Amino acid sequence: MTLNYPFEHIRAKPHELDLFKKALPNITKEMPEFFRTMDIANKSIEQKNMFGNPLGIRQDLGFENSLKILLIACFNDGLLTEGDTAEKAIDIFRALTLKWYTFGNKLDSCLYFAYFAYSRHSYAATLFNDYLKQSDFLAGGAKSRLDNADVASLLNPTYSKAWYKTSTGLGDKLHPLVLSDDDVTKTSFPRPGYQVHFRSTNRFDLRVPTFIEMDQVEKPMIQDTKVIVSCPNCRQKCRGNLFKQIEIACPSCKTTWKQFTS
Ligand SMILES: [Zn+2]
Repeated sequence: MTLNYPFEHIRAKPHELDLFKKALPNITKEMPEFFRTMDIANKSIEQKNMFGNPLGIRQDLGFENSLKILLIACFNDGLLTEGDTAEKAIDIFRALTLKWYTFGNKLDSCLYFAYFAYSRHSYAATLFNDYLKQSDFLAGGAKSRLDNADVASLLNPTYSKAWYKTSTGLGDKLHPLVLSDDDVTKTSFPRPGYQVHFRSTNRFDLRVPTFIEMDQVEKPMIQDTKVIVSCPNCRQKCRGNLFKQIEIACPSCKTTWKQFTS
């Protein structure tokens, strides 16, 4: 049986590839090689050792080198600037990988990136830290282009800062993202929050961040037959009738959203 990944069906709009090429010329040049090495690397982790465990990340497949070259392209195209953290760089790579996939590129490459960025997160963070130290002089004080209209329309956020907690997991109030408790680890280091690793289901979702801050996660407050949750847009506390799934319209800012309560 083939597993379906929640991001698998997403496709770019027809004009977006040209927009990508124009807005991010250096990155466009390096993405095919990045995807090629990840495709090979994914085959290598699919091979199991004699105990049936994956062989893990191998160093000799060209992946680390292509990652480093893509990182330099990110500086040249203004997505990364001096002083950016490994966490930020990983999130930009996540968004680029997802976007490149939606142009019709290989799912296997994405699965390797997800394995690397979520399941082997500390390894990914160490690698990015090292490469950022070696490369951030390239930025030369240039300003980030992440908020420029062309780039922002290509890499628009796939998750929000408004999450809710249920008895079985986490959900995003503004995006159709649901995570099982077994696929995240609650942690207080380096900051309070949830590390997303997908190690239980391996059902990777490249739309999800690798880390969700604790202060962005709300537990619905339940009083008898009512539930109180805060608006993902203006923070206003909103009351509704208690059902397993609720739809709320904020009386202040009119934002509507759906979420689970238990
Ligand atoms: Zn509101």
